Amino acid sequence: MLHVLPPLPYDYNSLEPFIDEETMRIHHTKHHQTYVDKLNAALGGHKEFEALDADELLKNLDRIPEDIRTAVRNHGGGHSNHSFFWPLLKKNVPFGGAVSERILKQFGSLEKFREDFSNRAALLFGSGWTWLTLDQGKLEIMTTANQDSPLSVGKTPVLGLDVWEHAYYLKYQNRRPDYIKAFFEVINWEKVNEHFYKAG
Ligand code: MN
Repeated sequence: MLHVLPPLPYDYNSLEPFIDEETMRIHHTKHHQTYVDKLNAALGGHKEFEALDADELLKNLDRIPEDIRTAVRNHGGGHSNHSFFWPLLKKNVPFGGAVSERILKQFGSLEKFREDFSNRAALLFGSGWTWLTLDQGKLEIMTTANQDSPLSVGKTPVLGLDVWEHAYYLKYQNRRPDYIKAFFEVINWEKVNEHFYKAG
């Protein structure tokens, strides 16, 4: 299939002041678009993978020919991760639903979860992602380097945070912890619940 950039499910300025319009515009139209373009370029001529979307490609990296595997891992990961990320962001969605109960049960409080997740995100060296995954009924915080996807190691994400500098540098410069704090103001808990139900 020809992979395409999914439209943002909101306006570029919708997450202001937590995530600024210019960052959202560049991140979506330049960074994400480039992952899509490079994934298509890598897969060009490989008709055997035409039926697979990016998530399926990442779940089956061992089936991808070696000469394009790294490109699929990086750019397919970039496409999949960002497609997952955009709908997770929305202002003014209260913490609630089944996932909130599970978070309270496992982490003790939202505050404790926020602290654990934020520490993992802040301490992640270099570029990568911080995730909350659900596997066999258990929530887990994990990180991946670069654009690696939890799907490639058999994990199912319900929440993810892009901690590449391109996600925050224009507004927050080197202050990654401030960006992480802002992220918690724009988590779309309804979407996290959707992922939680599907994964459970
Ligand atoms: Mn990004």
